[in-house]
Amino acid sequence: MTTLNALKPSERMKIPRQESIEQAASERVQNFTEVSFGVDEARAMVEATRCLECKNAVCTEGCPVGIDIRSFIQLILQKDYAGAVNKIREANYLPSICGRVCPQEEQCELVCTLGKKHMPVAIGKLERFVADYELEHNLFVPPVVKEKRPEKVAIVGAGPAGLTCAAELAQMGYQVSMFEALHAVGGVLRYGIPEFRLPRKILDIEVDRIRQLGVDIQTNFLVGRTATIDEFFDEWGFSAVFLGTGAGTPNFMGIPGEGLTGVYSANEFLTRVNLMRANKFPEFDTPIRMGSSVAVIGGGNTAMDAVRTSKRLGAEHSLLIYRRSRQEMPARQEEIHHAEQEGIELHLLTNPTRIIGNENHFVTGIECQRMELGEPDESGRRKPVAIKGSEYIIPVQIVIEAIGQQPNPIIQSTTPGLQTGKRGVVATNDKQGTSRPGIFAGGDLARGGATVILAMRDGKTAATSIHEYIQSKKSVTVSTPAASEEVKA
Ligand SMILES: Cc1cc2nc3c(=O)[nH]c(=O)nc-3n(C[C@H](O)[C@H](O)[C@H](O)COP(=O)(O)OP(=O)(O)OC[C@H]3O[C@@H](n4cnc5c(N)ncnc54)[C@H](O)[C@@H]3O)c2cc1C
Repeated sequence: MTTLNALKPSERMKIPRQESIEQAASERVQNFTEVSFGVDEARAMVEATRCLECKNAVCTEGCPVGIDIRSFIQLILQKDYAGAVNKIREANYLPSICGRVCPQEEQCELVCTLGKKHMPVAIGKLERFVADYELEHNLFVPPVVKEKRPEKVAIVGAGPAGLTCAAELAQMGYQVSMFEALHAVGGVLRYGIPEFRLPRKILDIEVDRIRQLGVDIQTNFLVGRTATIDEFFDEWGFSAVFLGTGAGTPNFMGIPGEGLTGVYSANEFLTRVNLMRANKFPEFDTPIRMGSSVAVIGGGNTAMDAVRTSKRLGAEHSLLIYRRSRQEMPARQEEIHHAEQEGIELHLLTNPTRIIGNENHFVTGIECQRMELGEPDESGRRKPVAIKGSEYIIPVQIVIEAIGQQPNPIIQSTTPGLQTGKRGVVATNDKQGTSRPGIFAGGDLARGGATVILAMRDGKTAATSIHEYIQSKKSVTVSTPAASEEVKA
């Protein structure tokens, strides 16, 4: 490897990008085991050698949480894998998760200097490699919390936003309690993203590491019902609250036939499988209805996860119906590629107009209309326009809608003075403060559907703001971030 290390930049540029080792598509559609095995040590070393060690490390600017990417790659070259993962952990407490699910192609890898003329450094694969290496070799050492502070902070919702906020505050020494409505922790990482992209063992280990920081996690606790936010302040003695309850309420198209048996939201479909283990019914209590043909409506990661899951549940034909073209699909390129390899049938420029059922109210088909792309809309993407008279029917037994979601209103409706914005998101300022002093919010609850890393960034920002807020309360002259900053609705 010393030889690789000594290569000139022009020689490094010639090295091809190292790809992950993956399960063959024909095999993996029959199981829920992880598709990608990542890169092994030899490939990781070659890939790390491709890094040009730019002085202005633009990759770090491209990372929403500002990981010092150049430094962690240099530690890989020194074979200090534990040092590399700890370097990542300075900015990101969930490296083995982000190494798997982050859209690096739109972030750090998008701006990688090497990517201007060649393929960018596979930063995400290197992140995953060091995180997995640490795990396999049992190298994790929990950070030492230097100072214990008396103040208590409540974290509502145990998704990536809440978990990150909890980890940051616990490391600052606060007494952190986390409240989660479901019986298991992780949010979308648990109930949304399937095992074949994020093994539960990985999630369990990362959550356990947050527990090891002293975070108390209470599950089956629906905030807004089991206790309200005001009770947290008035009766439970919390000094601040972080809201990270996500956007778990699915949108529906509003077309005829949505009440038929065999129509699911992607949220329900994936929760049944990922959280309730319906794929193992009757060993587990929750059943799932399947058919030989399944249509999933949507073009994002959720749609991809649902359609690939349906294939693994035994559907002969798993169709993805999307109203724009492939270019506009919001799903990660890697997911689309994997889906195609697995035989998912893409029906692009196609929009459902109604779901058809039989006399027993079971789904028998879906009527669709062909579309063409018109002028760009407010999102900048070309607007799909229906082609008159182009309707046709696809016989299917199951329809799954994956067309977005919004926050559940339970906390907003039980917390007086908490301002909300478009589609029920909680309004926040750039420090994640809300309209109520002492209440902070982030992740999908404040953004609508976004990404794991953006939720984590909000959790980190909120932790800093909570610290400032609590410390400022000790001094009568300093105003709170929420009071001093304008709240964006
Ligand atoms: C199927 C799917 C696939 C995705 N794939 C990717 C991907 O590959 N890469 C990526 O970056 N992003 C992906 N995303 C988006 C990403 O998962 C989310 O942006 C992210 O999880 C948001 O994190 P969060 O912490 O804000 O909310 P969530 O992950 O939704 O967690 C919120 C938690 O709060 C709990 N909760 C809700 N209400 C209450 C209450 N009243 N009291 C207590 N607890 C409550 C919920 O049960 C949940 O556990 C995907 C999303 C979905 C749905």
